[in-house]
Amino acid sequence: MSVDADQDDRDLEAELASPAAGQFGVPVDAVCVGCGRTRVKRASLEEMDQHPQANPTALEATDCTSFKHVCYGCQTATWWNPVAVLTGLLESDRDRGE
Ligand SMILES: [Zn+2]
Repeated sequence: MSVDADQDDRDLEAELASPAAGQFGVPVDAVCVGCGRTRVKRASLEEMDQHPQANPTALEATDCTSFKHVCYGCQTATWWNPVAVLTGLLESDRDRGE
C-alpha cells in the first residue's frame, strides 16, 4: 500500500472492509490526531459519547467525541476525530444484516 495515496481517490467501502477499520460500530470518516491521515473507522456509539440507543443515521459528526483506535501510520492506538458519519455505508451494512 502506497503511503502517499491520494486522499481524493479513496475507496471508502474498501477501507471499511479492511480489518484496520475494526469490526463493530458505526462507520465514520475520522482523522488521526497523531499523523493527520483520514481513514474509515468503526466506532461504537458509546465510544463517541452518544446514547447506545441513538439512531446512527441521525448522528452528526460534530456531536461525536474523539475515540481511540489503532493507527497503522502511528503504529499504536491513538485518538481519532470523527469528520463524517458514513450513513451510506451504514445502510449497506443494514441490508446485509437482514
Ligand atoms: Zn496516526
